[in-house]
Amino acid sequence: MSGKIYEWKDITENRKIKTRVCIIGTGCGGATLASELTKLGVDVVMLEQGGYYPTYTFDNHELNMAGKVSAERNLQTTADGAINLVYGNNVGGASVHYWADSYRTPADRLEMWQSEYGIEHHTEKDLIPAWDELDKRLNVHPATDEYLNPMNRLVEKGAKRLGWSGHRVPQARKHCQKSGHCMQGCAFAAKQSQLVTHIDDVVKRGGTIYSDARAERLKMDGGKVRSLLARVIDRPSGKDGPYTIEIEADAFVVAAGGFGSSTFLLKNDLKKKLPVLGEFLGMNPSPFVHALYAQDVIQWRNIPAGFGVDHFRKPVYDAKGNYVEGGYLLMPNQLHPGTLAAMIPGMGKEHQQWMSALPRVGGTIGWIDDVRTELGRIEMDGDVRKVHYSFGRVGAMMIRDLLKKQVLINFAAGAEKVLIPDNRATLLTSPDQIDVIDGISLRPGTLLMAAPHPSGGCRMGADAKTSVVNSEHRVHGFDNLYVADSSVFPTGVSVDPSYTIMAFSYVAARSISGAL
Ligand SMILES: Cc1cc2nc3c(=O)[nH]c(=O)nc-3n(C[C@H](O)[C@H](O)[C@H](O)COP(=O)(O)OP(=O)(O)OC[C@H]3O[C@@H](n4cnc5c(N)ncnc54)[C@H](O)[C@@H]3O)c2cc1C
Repeated sequence: MSGKIYEWKDITENRKIKTRVCIIGTGCGGATLASELTKLGVDVVMLEQGGYYPTYTFDNHELNMAGKVSAERNLQTTADGAINLVYGNNVGGASVHYWADSYRTPADRLEMWQSEYGIEHHTEKDLIPAWDELDKRLNVHPATDEYLNPMNRLVEKGAKRLGWSGHRVPQARKHCQKSGHCMQGCAFAAKQSQLVTHIDDVVKRGGTIYSDARAERLKMDGGKVRSLLARVIDRPSGKDGPYTIEIEADAFVVAAGGFGSSTFLLKNDLKKKLPVLGEFLGMNPSPFVHALYAQDVIQWRNIPAGFGVDHFRKPVYDAKGNYVEGGYLLMPNQLHPGTLAAMIPGMGKEHQQWMSALPRVGGTIGWIDDVRTELGRIEMDGDVRKVHYSFGRVGAMMIRDLLKKQVLINFAAGAEKVLIPDNRATLLTSPDQIDVIDGISLRPGTLLMAAPHPSGGCRMGADAKTSVVNSEHRVHGFDNLYVADSSVFPTGVSVDPSYTIMAFSYVAARSISGAL
């Protein structure tokens, strides 16, 4: 029997529901978990605080879509205003606006998580069967030539000239139309987001999804969660509606995302029991540059990242332990005209000149790996969530190094000028000026950066003093409360995280169903 996706308008009175497993969040973590559980014949109910936007409602209008599939229209920042937090708030979570880069977790990272953090059952050997299956379901293949837009080709050319290693990025796409509207939700259902894959599977197998339903309060009895109370949101006004849904279940899983899961558990007053809840937050801070080319680049068409530079994935330290370079992936950037207008620094004539030349404006971006850098933390100030993240001394060095490498690769690819999105609109006309990067202020609010890959906050590990969940994804001290998303990662993944999140959910599904 087929399941159903309910919206706010379907709920006209308070509801009480019983199920086997209740999952909070419908992103890569929650949807993959629900898909696996329903495959095993387990009854699931999913809650999603965001709206349900089926593919036929996508209109390719950048600003309309930001209001639907980008939480807070991408305007949330860290508490100090330094970094933009980018995440999903809709059925399918951030996968609806992600780039579909689908990397298996590097073996060195899984080994480190095992040896340094004591994580079990998540070795490469454990995860390969999940990825093999996901490759088929999400149609993951390395990007071929036809999907490389001019900016991708320029990055490939620049890397070759500089002798930097790169690769064709594995992509979760089927019959891609090259529209370039990946970040607005794919109107062709070609990008294999959770919305058009695992969510679809869950509904076909009888799973129930309540969109517009914010999970609020766990009702607990010692170490056992009895039920969960959710508030139905009145979508047209965005305000709390009058109705609630109470779910009784044998197991409850928090899959509310890297920024959401620890927030939910903190709101449920679990910090006293779990001292590191909300700690060790990573977010792959992502500095980027703009570059002006002689020819049209039209960065907003075709897929965002078909070619990536992995030469600097692992940070290099000298014999004394001093940072030398690296610790990030470097990619072509894809921003659309409305976002570019906000992200290109400067005012008046200078800004207008860049905007008039928009088809020739390309750029690059990179994700700093949160591993040896200082990690952040989420705390509640009353009802208000505060996200703190200070990249620390090494993190700051990585940011400057990544900016320099982006300047070099754009010039190597033939850029006429490179513009840094800092408060001084620093402009370079030659790679010889690279030292100006050392003078760029990294104080909050001076350099635009995004954070699309949150991790941590509910770190996995054996000890309740230093972690929140065990290797079975079960919250320490609870019989039936679990976490299944990027918030369990002990550090950043060192590549884009979606495929790690999904493979971890395969493991979580086995643990949870085994304990029912
Ligand atoms: C622009 C962009 C591009 C990206 N590109 C890539 C890429 O190419 N490759 C890659 O691997 N990764 C990419 N990422 C990151 C990737 O999309 C995310 O890491 C991943 O989708 C996160 O999955 P998740 O399940 O952990 O969380 P989410 O997708 O954030 O899902 C959590 C869901 O829980 C819901 N929720 C939160 N709190 C509650 C509550 N109290 N009650 C009910 N629901 C709640 C949220 O609304 C959300 O929908 C990108 C991210 C962005 C922003």
